[in-house]
Amino acid sequence: MPRLDKSSEEHAKNGEIVAMAVNFEDDAGEDVIYPAIISDLRCKVLVDCGCPGFLPKLDESAFHAGISLRELTHVIITHHDYDHYGALFELKERYPAIRVIASETEAPYIEGLEKSLRLSRVEAIYDKLPPDKRADALRFQKSLEALKPVKVDIRVSDGAVFSWCGGVRIVASPGHMPGHISVLVPCHRTLITGDALVATNGRLRAANLNYAIDAREALSTAKKLMSPDIRTFVCYHGGVVNVGV
Ligand SMILES: [Zn+2]
Repeated sequence: MPRLDKSSEEHAKNGEIVAMAVNFEDDAGEDVIYPAIISDLRCKVLVDCGCPGFLPKLDESAFHAGISLRELTHVIITHHDYDHYGALFELKERYPAIRVIASETEAPYIEGLEKSLRLSRVEAIYDKLPPDKRADALRFQKSLEALKPVKVDIRVSDGAVFSWCGGVRIVASPGHMPGHISVLVPCHRTLITGDALVATNGRLRAANLNYAIDAREALSTAKKLMSPDIRTFVCYHGGVVNVGV
């Protein structure tokens, strides 16, 4: 449960960022994701919220971080993948006051107004899959079809700034999904990457390009995000990477 800043003076002024480790098991085995919470004295903002059914896991991880999900004011969804907004419906149902933030491009998918790009992709490759892979693909399709839509309260685009923690900026990071966003917290020199960057053994890289809607764009986004101005990367897959310290 890395707390990215322990200085109480800086905390009072600029808030803090906590990367919560949420452990789970699925067909592929044991795994962990790292939803982050940005907080200051006025706001508590969750970035991405896990798969359907993850609310109890989120609750427990937040509790260990000394935060109650009840205190959340906003949730930012980086993109409309199953593991990033799957628990949004249940989160919003339990805590209706939480304001949902997503990009202009991703919002219609989260709201169920447009067909999920991931679902279209899975359907398109189904016939080309070897027979032994088809049952898994079909199961995944069913899971995607079962995702419940949620209204997006605040639609953002590149460069949008929120006042939390002395100013938090939305960074368009397309490729993995066309409207993918990352979240920059300048006063902590920290970037919450979503799936624009992942970490493997402490090294940053683009997420598996086979899952990118536009692989070339995903690669160029990954390069762009590895800015020397950033000291800490919080990767949803792979956790916290500190560079240059
Ligand atoms: Zn993901």
